[in-house]
Amino acid sequence: MREEPVTVFGVRGLPLIKEGDDLCALIAGKILLEDGDIVCIASSVYSKAKGYTQSLSGITPGERACRIAGRTGEDPRFIQAVLNASQDVLLEYPFVLSELPCGHVGVRAGVDQSNIEDGMIILLPPDPMAAASELREGFRSGTGMNVGVIVTDTCGRSFRRGQTGHAIGWSGMRAIRDFRGDSDLFGHILKITEEAVVDEIAGFANFVMGESNNGVPVVIFRNCPPWIGHDSLYFTRDEDIIRKRLKDH
Ligand code: GDP
Ligand code: MN
Ligand code: MN
Repeated sequence: MREEPVTVFGVRGLPLIKEGDDLCALIAGKILLEDGDIVCIASSVYSKAKGYTQSLSGITPGERACRIAGRTGEDPRFIQAVLNASQDVLLEYPFVLSELPCGHVGVRAGVDQSNIEDGMIILLPPDPMAAASELREGFRSGTGMNVGVIVTDTCGRSFRRGQTGHAIGWSGMRAIRDFRGDSDLFGHILKITEEAVVDEIAGFANFVMGESNNGVPVVIFRNCPPWIGHDSLYFTRDEDIIRKRLKDH
Protein backbone atom coordinates (compact mmCIF):
# COMPACT_ATOMS: atom_id res chain seq x y z
CA MET A 1 0.00 0.00 0.00
CA ARG A 2 1.29 3.43 -0.86
CA GLU A 3 0.57 6.57 1.13
CA GLU A 4 -0.09 9.82 -0.66
CA PRO A 5 3.22 11.65 -0.70
CA VAL A 6 3.46 14.78 1.40
CA THR A 7 4.14 17.76 -0.84
CA VAL A 8 6.06 20.78 0.40
CA PHE A 9 6.49 23.99 -1.54
CA GLY A 10 7.53 27.57 -0.87
CA VAL A 11 5.38 30.48 -1.98
CA ARG A 12 7.42 32.70 -4.27
CA GLY A 13 6.75 36.20 -5.53
CA LEU A 14 5.47 37.78 -2.33
CA PRO A 15 6.45 41.47 -1.99
CA LEU A 16 8.40 43.04 0.85
CA ILE A 17 5.79 43.06 3.59
CA LYS A 18 4.87 46.34 5.22
CA GLU A 19 2.55 47.38 8.01
CA GLY A 20 -1.10 47.02 7.11
CA ASP A 21 -0.58 44.34 4.45
CA ASP A 22 -3.23 41.61 4.32
CA LEU A 23 -1.01 38.51 4.44
CA CYS A 24 -3.84 36.06 3.79
CA ALA A 25 -4.94 37.90 0.67
CA LEU A 26 -1.36 38.23 -0.59
CA ILE A 27 -0.71 34.52 -0.05
CA ALA A 28 -4.03 33.43 -1.55
CA GLY A 29 -3.16 35.57 -4.59
CA LYS A 30 -0.06 33.48 -5.22
CA ILE A 31 -1.24 29.96 -4.44
CA LEU A 32 -4.43 27.93 -4.64
CA LEU A 33 -4.90 26.61 -1.13
CA GLU A 34 -6.61 23.29 -0.52
CA ASP A 35 -8.53 21.95 2.44
CA GLY A 36 -6.16 20.36 4.91
CA ASP A 37 -3.07 22.31 3.82
CA ILE A 38 -0.70 23.39 6.55
CA VAL A 39 0.50 26.93 5.89
CA CYS A 40 3.77 27.85 7.62
CA ILE A 41 4.37 31.57 7.89
CA ALA A 42 7.59 33.21 9.09
CA SER A 43 6.89 35.26 12.20
CA SER A 44 9.04 38.02 10.71
CA VAL A 45 6.52 38.76 7.96
CA TYR A 46 3.54 38.49 10.29
CA SER A 47 5.24 41.02 12.58
CA LYS A 48 6.00 43.33 9.69
CA ALA A 49 2.38 43.18 8.53
CA LYS A 50 1.16 43.98 12.04
CA GLY A 51 3.70 46.66 12.78
CA TYR A 52 5.56 44.75 15.49
CA THR A 53 8.71 46.50 14.41
CA GLN A 54 10.66 49.30 16.01
CA SER A 55 13.26 51.85 15.14
CA LEU A 56 16.38 51.52 17.31
CA SER A 57 16.64 55.30 17.38
CA GLY A 58 13.42 55.49 19.39
CA ILE A 59 14.67 53.23 22.19
CA THR A 60 16.41 54.56 25.30
CA PRO A 61 18.43 51.81 26.96
CA GLY A 62 18.26 51.50 30.73
CA GLU A 63 21.03 50.59 33.13
CA ARG A 64 20.58 46.82 32.81
CA ALA A 65 20.54 46.92 29.02
CA CYS A 66 23.71 49.00 29.01
CA ARG A 67 25.42 46.61 31.40
CA ILE A 68 24.48 43.52 29.36
CA ALA A 69 25.35 45.20 26.07
CA GLY A 70 28.76 46.12 27.49
CA ARG A 71 29.47 42.44 27.99
CA THR A 72 27.94 41.03 24.81
CA GLY A 73 29.19 43.81 22.56
CA GLU A 74 25.70 44.47 21.21
CA ASP A 75 23.77 47.71 20.77
CA PRO A 76 22.26 48.65 24.18
CA ARG A 77 19.07 49.78 22.43
CA PHE A 78 18.73 46.35 20.85
CA ILE A 79 19.21 44.71 24.26
CA GLN A 80 16.60 47.04 25.74
CA ALA A 81 14.11 45.84 23.11
CA VAL A 82 14.99 42.25 24.02
CA LEU A 83 14.42 42.98 27.72
CA ASN A 84 11.14 44.74 26.96
CA ALA A 85 9.89 41.63 25.14
CA SER A 86 11.00 39.29 27.95
CA GLN A 87 9.01 38.11 30.90
CA ASP A 88 11.88 36.31 32.65
CA VAL A 89 15.57 36.49 31.82
CA LEU A 90 17.32 33.12 32.23
CA LEU A 91 20.78 34.15 30.99
CA GLU A 92 22.37 37.52 30.27
CA TYR A 93 25.68 36.29 28.93
CA PRO A 94 27.03 35.21 26.45
CA PHE A 95 23.61 36.06 25.03
CA VAL A 96 20.28 37.00 26.50
CA LEU A 97 18.09 33.93 26.86
CA SER A 98 14.63 34.69 28.10
CA GLU A 99 11.08 33.54 28.40
CA LEU A 100 8.43 35.52 26.57
CA PRO A 101 4.90 35.99 27.90
CA CYS A 102 3.65 33.44 25.33
CA GLY A 103 5.82 30.72 26.94
CA HIS A 104 8.50 30.57 24.26
CA VAL A 105 12.08 30.59 25.55
CA GLY A 106 14.50 32.04 23.06
CA VAL A 107 17.82 33.73 22.43
CA ARG A 108 17.52 37.54 22.24
CA ALA A 109 13.75 37.08 22.67
CA GLY A 110 13.59 36.36 18.95
CA VAL A 111 14.24 40.01 18.11
CA ASP A 112 15.65 40.22 14.56
CA GLN A 113 17.76 42.80 12.79
CA SER A 114 17.74 40.96 9.48
CA ASN A 115 15.27 41.19 6.60
CA ILE A 116 14.29 44.70 7.62
CA GLU A 117 15.70 48.16 6.87
CA ASP A 118 18.87 49.35 8.65
CA GLY A 119 18.19 50.67 12.11
CA MET A 120 14.93 48.75 12.43
CA ILE A 121 14.17 45.60 14.41
CA ILE A 122 11.44 42.97 14.14
CA LEU A 123 9.84 41.74 17.37
CA LEU A 124 8.10 38.40 17.68
CA PRO A 125 4.32 38.67 17.64
CA PRO A 126 3.28 39.10 21.30
CA ASP A 127 0.57 36.44 21.02
CA PRO A 128 1.68 33.95 18.34
CA MET A 129 -1.17 31.54 19.07
CA ALA A 130 -3.69 34.30 18.41
CA ALA A 131 -1.70 35.21 15.28
CA ALA A 132 -2.01 31.67 13.96
CA SER A 133 -5.74 31.47 14.58
CA GLU A 134 -6.28 34.90 13.06
CA LEU A 135 -4.42 33.82 9.91
CA ARG A 136 -6.35 30.56 9.77
CA GLU A 137 -9.62 32.46 10.04
CA GLY A 138 -8.38 34.86 7.34
CA PHE A 139 -7.77 31.98 4.95
CA ARG A 140 -11.15 30.50 5.77
CA SER A 141 -13.05 33.72 5.12
CA GLY A 142 -10.93 34.65 2.09
CA THR A 143 -10.76 31.31 0.32
CA GLY A 144 -13.29 29.04 2.04
CA MET A 145 -10.47 26.58 2.73
CA ASN A 146 -9.94 24.97 6.08
CA VAL A 147 -6.18 25.06 6.55
CA GLY A 148 -3.85 24.72 9.51
CA VAL A 149 -1.40 27.51 10.23
CA ILE A 150 2.01 27.42 11.91
CA VAL A 151 3.82 30.65 12.72
CA THR A 152 7.54 29.89 12.70
CA ASP A 153 10.75 31.43 13.89
CA THR A 154 14.36 30.39 13.42
CA CYS A 155 15.78 29.50 16.83
CA GLY A 156 18.96 28.12 18.31
CA ARG A 157 18.81 24.93 20.33
CA SER A 158 20.46 23.64 23.44
CA PHE A 159 23.22 21.06 23.07
CA ARG A 160 23.51 21.38 19.30
CA ARG A 161 25.01 23.86 16.95
CA GLY A 162 22.82 25.33 14.26
CA GLN A 163 19.44 26.99 14.20
CA THR A 164 16.22 25.31 13.11
CA GLY A 165 12.66 26.44 12.56
CA HIS A 166 10.39 26.26 15.59
CA ALA A 167 6.65 26.64 15.85
CA ILE A 168 5.82 29.62 18.05
CA GLY A 169 2.10 29.63 17.22
CA TRP A 170 -0.22 27.11 15.63
CA SER A 171 -3.89 26.68 14.84
CA GLY A 172 -5.93 23.89 13.32
CA MET A 173 -3.73 21.10 14.68
CA ARG A 174 -2.26 19.84 17.93
CA ALA A 175 1.31 20.72 18.75
CA ILE A 176 2.21 17.28 20.00
CA ARG A 177 1.43 13.86 18.64
CA ASP A 178 0.99 11.69 21.67
CA PHE A 179 2.24 8.13 21.30
CA ARG A 180 1.85 7.24 24.96
CA GLY A 181 -0.19 4.09 25.30
CA ASP A 182 0.60 2.90 21.76
CA SER A 183 2.52 -0.32 21.38
CA ASP A 184 5.72 -0.60 19.34
CA LEU A 185 6.52 -3.31 16.78
CA PHE A 186 7.26 -5.72 19.62
CA GLY A 187 4.19 -5.00 21.71
CA HIS A 188 5.92 -2.78 24.28
CA ILE A 189 3.64 -0.03 25.49
CA LEU A 190 5.19 3.39 24.84
CA LYS A 191 5.37 5.36 28.07
CA ILE A 192 7.03 8.65 27.23
CA THR A 193 7.01 9.28 23.51
CA GLU A 194 5.45 12.59 22.56
CA GLU A 195 6.42 13.96 19.18
CA ALA A 196 6.54 17.74 18.71
CA VAL A 197 5.04 17.62 15.20
CA VAL A 198 4.57 21.36 14.84
CA ASP A 199 8.30 21.87 15.39
CA GLU A 200 9.18 19.15 12.90
CA ILE A 201 7.04 20.80 10.26
CA ALA A 202 8.39 24.25 11.18
CA GLY A 203 11.92 22.88 10.90
CA PHE A 204 11.44 21.74 7.34
CA ALA A 205 9.52 24.90 6.45
CA ASN A 206 12.50 26.89 7.68
CA PHE A 207 14.77 24.90 5.37
CA VAL A 208 12.61 25.83 2.39
CA MET A 209 12.41 29.48 3.50
CA GLY A 210 16.13 29.99 3.99
CA GLU A 211 17.45 32.75 6.17
CA SER A 212 18.69 35.46 3.91
CA ASN A 213 17.39 36.86 0.65
CA ASN A 214 15.32 33.94 -0.61
CA GLY A 215 12.12 35.93 -0.19
CA VAL A 216 10.09 32.83 0.70
CA PRO A 217 8.31 33.53 4.00
CA VAL A 218 5.49 31.01 3.42
CA VAL A 219 5.71 27.25 2.94
CA ILE A 220 2.77 24.92 2.28
CA PHE A 221 2.57 21.30 3.41
CA ARG A 222 -0.02 19.22 1.57
CA ASN A 223 -1.20 15.67 2.41
CA CYS A 224 0.23 15.48 5.91
CA PRO A 225 -1.42 12.55 7.65
CA PRO A 226 -3.55 13.70 10.61
CA TRP A 227 -2.45 13.12 14.18
CA ILE A 228 -3.98 13.34 17.61
CA GLY A 229 -2.40 14.70 20.73
CA HIS A 230 -2.29 17.85 22.82
CA ASP A 231 -1.06 21.42 22.90
CA SER A 232 1.12 21.45 26.02
CA LEU A 233 4.28 22.14 24.06
CA TYR A 234 5.97 24.16 26.77
CA PHE A 235 7.18 22.55 29.98
CA THR A 236 5.64 23.91 33.14
CA ARG A 237 8.09 25.61 35.51
CA ASP A 238 8.16 22.45 37.62
CA GLU A 239 8.85 20.13 34.71
CA ASP A 240 11.61 22.22 33.15
CA ILE A 241 14.81 20.98 34.76
CA ILE A 242 17.15 22.95 32.48
CA ARG A 243 15.40 26.21 33.27
CA LYS A 244 15.67 25.43 36.99
CA ARG A 245 19.42 24.83 36.68
CA LEU A 246 19.88 28.08 34.77
CA LYS A 247 17.94 30.02 37.36
CA ASP A 248 20.00 28.46 40.18
CA HIS A 249 23.13 30.19 38.89
P1 GDP B 1 12.18 34.43 10.66
O1 GDP B 1 12.74 33.04 10.56
O2 GDP B 1 10.70 34.45 10.97
O3 GDP B 1 12.94 35.31 11.60
O4 GDP B 1 12.29 35.11 9.21
P2 GDP B 1 13.57 35.30 8.26
O5 GDP B 1 14.07 36.71 8.38
O6 GDP B 1 14.57 34.22 8.48
O7 GDP B 1 12.90 35.12 6.84
C1 GDP B 1 12.34 33.87 6.42
C2 GDP B 1 12.13 33.91 4.92
O8 GDP B 1 11.22 34.95 4.58
C3 GDP B 1 13.40 34.16 4.09
O9 GDP B 1 13.25 33.47 2.86
C4 GDP B 1 13.34 35.69 3.85
O10 GDP B 1 14.05 36.06 2.68
C5 GDP B 1 11.84 35.86 3.66
N1 GDP B 1 11.34 37.20 3.99
C6 GDP B 1 11.55 37.94 5.10
N2 GDP B 1 10.86 39.10 5.02
C7 GDP B 1 10.22 39.07 3.83
C8 GDP B 1 9.35 39.99 3.15
O11 GDP B 1 9.01 41.07 3.65
N3 GDP B 1 8.87 39.60 1.92
C9 GDP B 1 9.23 38.42 1.34
N4 GDP B 1 8.72 38.11 0.14
N5 GDP B 1 10.05 37.54 1.94
C10 GDP B 1 10.53 37.88 3.17
MN1 MN C 1 13.45 35.39 13.57
MN1 MN D 1 14.53 32.56 9.70
